[in-house]
Amino acid sequence: MRIFEEMESEVRGYIRSFPTVFDRAEGSELFDESGARFIDFFAGAGTLNYGHNNPIVTDAMIQYLQHKGILHGLDKATVAKRAFLQKFRDTILAPRDLKYKVQFTGPTGTNAVETALKLARMVKKRSNIISFTNGYHGLTMGALAATGNYFYKDESYGSRINTAFMPYDGFLGEGVDTIDYMRRFLADGSSGVDLPAAVIVETVQGEGGINVAGIEWLKNLQAVCREFDILLIVDDIQVGNGRTGTFFSFERAGIHPDMVCLSKSIGGGLPMALLLIRPELDQWQPGEHTGTFRGNNLAFVAATQTLRYWDNDDLVKAVAYKGDIIEKTLNKMVEDYPQLEPKVRGIGMVWGLEMAPGLAGEASRQAFARGLVIETAGANDQVLKFLPSLLIGEDILHEGLGIVRDCLALLVE
Ligand code: PMP
Repeated sequence: MRIFEEMESEVRGYIRSFPTVFDRAEGSELFDESGARFIDFFAGAGTLNYGHNNPIVTDAMIQYLQHKGILHGLDKATVAKRAFLQKFRDTILAPRDLKYKVQFTGPTGTNAVETALKLARMVKKRSNIISFTNGYHGLTMGALAATGNYFYKDESYGSRINTAFMPYDGFLGEGVDTIDYMRRFLADGSSGVDLPAAVIVETVQGEGGINVAGIEWLKNLQAVCREFDILLIVDDIQVGNGRTGTFFSFERAGIHPDMVCLSKSIGGGLPMALLLIRPELDQWQPGEHTGTFRGNNLAFVAATQTLRYWDNDDLVKAVAYKGDIIEKTLNKMVEDYPQLEPKVRGIGMVWGLEMAPGLAGEASRQAFARGLVIETAGANDQVLKFLPSLLIGEDILHEGLGIVRDCLALLVE
């Protein structure tokens, strides 16, 4: 076994290994132990929307540690948690007129998904869940049941959650109204689709290959949920926190989900996950859904600082501006390298460049050799995925996109 594989984890984790040992990072740059520099277009799988070691975050954490602030992760009242909740309400929920209750669910995104599915089933007294083709919601048992890619599954895992997979927007080809398809299944009691407790959806599928649901599709999805008394859960773990250009990804569609899963960048880079629930859905008995690491206090400190970026609309403008740069540059690549069968899709600062089989992985490897960390997505890893920090400098953004262009040029040689 090569040394870098040993270093990642003793049990093989990711499909793609970046063959080095990383040591430090700042903003959108990573450095390995030999001092070699890499531009980061992966941002810790979307956990670092505000960049690596953002000084407003690290300064606050250092101060908190020096103050000997509470560090345990129990879901108990602390000053750090209160400050986060206050800031989240004032800066995110109140201006959007959203009246959710916040439930801390554990450190990872999957924990928020598990909580949402469990609560939906308990409230509705129904066990079925609807999720979508190519959706990704995590790999523990409940969340896995809702993940729509058989690569991750083995029959022996079984599942105590019955999931019906419906076609995501665009899955059946352009112009096919997949919500109408879903409505027909639900309306026909003999179709084999039991009335579900909830529908769980990403408004932009991240792991699924950067598939962007249309606004009408999302509105229609909400309408079907209301019509059949089904709870609508938006999984905003990857594309929330400003990624699509607004804090929540569903804002562009003007919908109002019953529950929202948030994780990744909400903790400013530290593990944190939460579930937003409509107040009337909070039907838990005390003790019914608890755990040891429910609210990492250092993550609350980091998170409170990142929310300062939402005090004004500078970030929203920056995401629109830099997203436009990415979109235009990728469209130019599509024009210049038709041999790769490229297709571009995305929104805000999450973009995908789909290519002929095998090429996205090769581009990722070539990019790494040239100093760029970029990952792939999609059911067959056919999409090169652009997920830089929202705060990435324009120069570095251009530099990274230039490396991608060089790699594509190499692929057509
Ligand atoms: N939902 C979505 C949309 C995700 O992208 C991910 C992680 N890629 C998860 C859930 C699972 O989150 P975690 O890996 O933190 O458990």
